Amino acid sequence: MPALPDLLQALTTGAVEVVDLTTPLQESTPILELPPPFANTSRFRLEELSRYDAAGPAWYWNDIHTGEHTGTHVDAPVHWVTGKDGADVSELPPSTMVGAAAVLDLSAAVKEDPDFLLEVEHVREWEDRHRALPEGGWLLFRTGWASRGHDAAAFANADEHGPHTPGVSPECARWLAEETAIAGFGVETVGTDAGAAAGFTPPFPCHSALLGAGKWGVTSLRNLDRLPPAGATLIVCPLPIVGGSGSPARVLALVEREPVR
Ligand code: MN
Repeated sequence: MPALPDLLQALTTGAVEVVDLTTPLQESTPILELPPPFANTSRFRLEELSRYDAAGPAWYWNDIHTGEHTGTHVDAPVHWVTGKDGADVSELPPSTMVGAAAVLDLSAAVKEDPDFLLEVEHVREWEDRHRALPEGGWLLFRTGWASRGHDAAAFANADEHGPHTPGVSPECARWLAEETAIAGFGVETVGTDAGAAAGFTPPFPCHSALLGAGKWGVTSLRNLDRLPPAGATLIVCPLPIVGGSGSPARVLALVEREPVR
């Protein structure tokens, strides 16, 4: 029996809502800022080519300048040295671009401790309450961090010791990479690892373990508070940059709503 007519009907009636999880791309969009001697990525920027003027009397268009890892973006396995022989961002399988979303809400804990780390037990608790993590799907770590997205300093949350933002413990990162069937892991923060993760063993365990295992990352997500813990469908659409280590992405979720009566 065809399923798409029912989906289209549900989208028309609002029984299924499309939620945009993407940070708008503009010069003020927060980016990762690494300390010296490391190279940093570019802010997003428009460079106008013409705007109904001598350079283009009837048309407006721009060149865009951006890093691969600017705004809401995908990390491909090849982004990390542990995944250097893995897929680039153009090789994200279309079947992975659309998948079930498991949403773990640890925003209350993060409010108490901005350095909060996701542990295996938190994921196990979610599984006990709902179901097993979705095979080939996405685990989304809801921290409330997106509420800081309008303020670069609050989003980075750095002091003299470096940034204080939530992430994943080394043990949990290894477990997610090796012992779960998820295809990818998504966060609200600027990267999938904690702000303090440069000092972990191994450093940046989420990047190291997940990308090394051929899994995918997605960052700077918004509106995760509009998703149910289980039952949403995620749609992740990075640009197919050949050889790219990542790409800005439009990320949407399909969410079941109570029908309007
Ligand atoms: Mn990245």
